[in-house]
Amino acid sequence: MDIHEYQAKERFRAAGILVPPGEIATTADEAEAIAETYGGVVVVKAQVHAGGRGKAGGVKLAKDSAEAREHAQNILGMEIKGLTVEKVLVTPAEEIDTEAYVGILVDRKSQAATFMVSAAGGVDIEEVSETNPDAIRKLTVDPRYGLLPHQAFWLANFLYDDPSLIKQASKIIGQLYDSFVDSGASMAEINPLITTPSGEVKAIDAKMSIDDSELFRRPEVAKMRDTSAEPDSERLARDAGLSYVKLDGNVGCCVNGAGLAMATMDLVQYYGGVPANFLDIGGSSNPDKVVAALQIITSDPNVKAILFNIFGGITRCDDVAKGIVEATKRIDIRPPIVIRLTGTNEEIALGILKEAGFPAYTSMDEVVEEAVHLANA
Ligand code: GDP
Ligand code: MN
Repeated sequence: MDIHEYQAKERFRAAGILVPPGEIATTADEAEAIAETYGGVVVVKAQVHAGGRGKAGGVKLAKDSAEAREHAQNILGMEIKGLTVEKVLVTPAEEIDTEAYVGILVDRKSQAATFMVSAAGGVDIEEVSETNPDAIRKLTVDPRYGLLPHQAFWLANFLYDDPSLIKQASKIIGQLYDSFVDSGASMAEINPLITTPSGEVKAIDAKMSIDDSELFRRPEVAKMRDTSAEPDSERLARDAGLSYVKLDGNVGCCVNGAGLAMATMDLVQYYGGVPANFLDIGGSSNPDKVVAALQIITSDPNVKAILFNIFGGITRCDDVAKGIVEATKRIDIRPPIVIRLTGTNEEIALGILKEAGFPAYTSMDEVVEEAVHLANA
């Protein structure tokens, strides 16, 4: 689960990290009023689950409250990477001497939380990692001990020469680690971590993703979910208890079991197609789940054919077949549907589908080939 900058900043503040104050506005009037109370120069910042807001025009400095109003007017409703801005953060502007990058994420390769820091922070950090990887220092944290003080120092020492800045940054790196662990995060990032002309180190941007599996034991974090900022398909899938990941192809896939879902996607690629999604309807075969799955798949305009691949173990094939027939009664489905069912109650299922006029298969190769053919026709 991604959270907004203002929410990540709340988490950081709670861990003791020096973060400028800020308030949220959903209208230009509110933004103006907040800017008025701060006085002086403020920054108006789009709150969307996407990086690169600055480059997209979603972060603007305003010299007074009238200008803050103007910027808020422009930024609210703006689209950044396909997401509509519904909130802006208004925060007093900082004077910046330097911009560094400090991030931590769960690294698959080392199977542990790994820090990355760079003195070349700011809006171009992705480019730095590609063109100048030596400008980034990495450190993997041993979860048995957590981040040790000398390790935080070693990271901070890569950012600054001034002992006072190194000391402040070491402390912030330790606090970031605590916040990352306490929040059940899979990623936490400060970019930029700035130094000011008066010699302070502060976090003026904040990003955090929470591991979904950590949410159940952290209700205070779980309630930060902003459903209005998520794609409809993901919300629908979560509410229906389906695991769904949208992809870029045109073959909509509806499968039971994560392993079979991945094998199906591989086979789609093998036959020259591209899957539109990963979707696992899970072990149950509740017809409502099938209806929800079809709703989600058909809400993606790229889908040109729908492929069902069901292996009936605990899942009963006849229940899935009933779900498919039920779904076509309840919703208008344009793309052709091809179905492969095998296992428990297969014969009954094939009968139901035949009666309803659906082409049904028992061979996985055949059905995938047909789905790819239909999608590319
Ligand atoms: P991002 O583009 O989504 O990462 O948004 P950031 O919050 O990181 O802002 C982008 C850039 O805007 C920063 O790297 C700064 O250069 C600039 N910026 C953001 N806040 C301030 C501020 O308070 N004062 C000044 N002078 N610049 C700022
Ligand atoms: Mn940033």
